[in-house]
Amino acid sequence: MVGYVNKIESMGLVDGPGIRTVIFMQGCMLRCIFCHNPESWSFKGGTKYTPLELVNKISRFKPYYGEDGGVTFSGGEPLGQPEFLLETCKLLKKENINICLDTSGVGTKYEELLDYIDLIILDIKHITPKGYEMITGAKMDKFQKFLETVQRKNKKLWLRQVIIPGINDTKEYILELKEYISKIKNVEKVELLPYHTMGIGKYKDLNIKYKLDGVPPMDNLKCKELEKILND
Ligand code: SF4
Repeated sequence: MVGYVNKIESMGLVDGPGIRTVIFMQGCMLRCIFCHNPESWSFKGGTKYTPLELVNKISRFKPYYGEDGGVTFSGGEPLGQPEFLLETCKLLKKENINICLDTSGVGTKYEELLDYIDLIILDIKHITPKGYEMITGAKMDKFQKFLETVQRKNKKLWLRQVIIPGINDTKEYILELKEYISKIKNVEKVELLPYHTMGIGKYKDLNIKYKLDGVPPMDNLKCKELEKILND
């Protein structure tokens, strides 16, 4: 069995607690309008690893993880390669390594995989089916099913929402988001991420139309203010 990895960040500090090795898996099923990693969309390409090869690579960084750190699977969409991820996570748990899954929650065959995951960082693309489809190009059912499953399994959650000027940067949306999140259990943290335009050049290189052309980056301060409303 093999999996395809877009890139590896050996010492990440933002994708989960502590110092983490972040594995960006190749391939994504969504096409978010704000995505800054369009090079990770295709399931073709990436570097090939067997689960054991990847675990050996990750284990080298184990001395840096301390009490909180570990590995985070991100993407692309890590749930796009569920069998590979399951085998890799089984081996990581034998090494007693903490595992985070940074996901948009679209995928299948994650029932057993989730038993090996210590923390899920879940992207909320939008709280309504209409908004979700506008942002991702996909129906919301898979996300909803994933959320139901992680709730049933009592998994710890960090939630993330990208804030885009003119789309969801209003107090009204944030209050609705707050209400939506209040019904989700085991939420340890909620972060608002300001939309940025740093990925635009990649779209040009890949000859893909950029749907948010002309939309300015989200003001960091305003985003922090909205985050304060959300977390108050
Ligand atoms: S889920 Fe992530 S990688 Fe996939 S399109 Fe959306 S932002 Fe990009």
